[in-house]
Amino acid sequence: MNALHSTIRHSAVFDHPEMDDHENVVFVRDRDTGLSAIIAVHDTTLGPALGGCRVWPYGNPFDALTDALRLSRGMTYKNALAGLDLGGGKAVIIADPRKDKTAGMMEAFGRHVDRLSGTYITAEDVGVSPQDMEAVARQTKHVRGTSATGLGDPSPYTALGVFEGIRASVRHVFGTDNLEGRTVSVQGLGHVGFDVACRLHEAGAGLIVSDIHAPAVLRAVEAFGAATADPAQAHMVEADIFVPCALGAGLNATTVPQIQARIVAGAANNQLQTPGDGVALKKRGILYAPDYAINAGGVISIALATPGGDDALVREKTIAIGDTLAAIFERASAEETTPEAIADAMAEERLAQSAKD
Ligand code: NAD
Repeated sequence: MNALHSTIRHSAVFDHPEMDDHENVVFVRDRDTGLSAIIAVHDTTLGPALGGCRVWPYGNPFDALTDALRLSRGMTYKNALAGLDLGGGKAVIIADPRKDKTAGMMEAFGRHVDRLSGTYITAEDVGVSPQDMEAVARQTKHVRGTSATGLGDPSPYTALGVFEGIRASVRHVFGTDNLEGRTVSVQGLGHVGFDVACRLHEAGAGLIVSDIHAPAVLRAVEAFGAATADPAQAHMVEADIFVPCALGAGLNATTVPQIQARIVAGAANNQLQTPGDGVALKKRGILYAPDYAINAGGVISIALATPGGDDALVREKTIAIGDTLAAIFERASAEETTPEAIADAMAEERLAQSAKD
């Protein structure tokens, strides 16, 4: 290794704990609009790197880099496992979405996305609205989820995939995917959670619902005749299935020992606080549907929507999430490991196969 290579390897960026084999990490600034952003392209083996743009008031650039590196890697795995011919990437803009974000800033971001010549395709994430993406789309065609390219809100597709994933989980544990008479605790009744609750209700499941936003709970009680739980205790109630659709890290050293359900299968991102929490679930005999496998319906809809086209392909690929999960569960049982370890292995196998072809 020459001196320059050695210096680069031991710089703060290359030694960052979340640095994997990222192909390209771009730091962008725009003086006129105040844009400060990081675009991370993790892997383009399967195709251009698709991943959302997050606007967040990070305390320091190191935290922003951590998010960009971690989330872009996550997108590589999510897109690979969802059967998409797309790699993984992510962008973060360091700004308060309520105070700092402007159309000009989003346009400047779009110009930087355009400079990457399609190796990175951006979309909405936390802190970004459909109008923001329209501003990005004025500067680059490498954007998804705008009115010109998409099916609109991805949440109904995420909910469809979660519902199919719940059915696959129930089939694996109980030998039938009939949901009639099953009790399900749904935590978080937002865009995805309410829709999942609706599908579960229509399939004959009994619902226990919870949300920190009281009107959301009232709506579900009125629509489904649901029972309610304290949101902090949603995982503890007597139920067959626990469906986390609120925030991440809900499965941790405190909550895992308290879970009554046989299955945890929901939309929330990053549900396991640590890998050890997945192992603890397995030890307790609780089946966990890996979050990035079960909640891929949204990214499938963003990736495969065509202007003016119907959603048949999107629905087909989203419904197939149930088959992917069934394969994950079977292999995890056979290899006596966790479903999340198998999901990672399956994504890596697809990448390795594609690199060989
Ligand atoms: P949302 O903001 O519409 O809904 C989240 C709901 O959770 C809100 O009603 C909120 O009041 C509630 N909530 C927040 N904290 C809570 C708590 N401690 N206990 C109970 N309820 C709480 O979000 P969404 O789009 O429905 O997404 C839900 C989850 O699914 C998020 O983790 C998101 O990252 C993930 N996800 C969403 C999509 C999508 O297409 N929207 C795709 C993949 C993953």
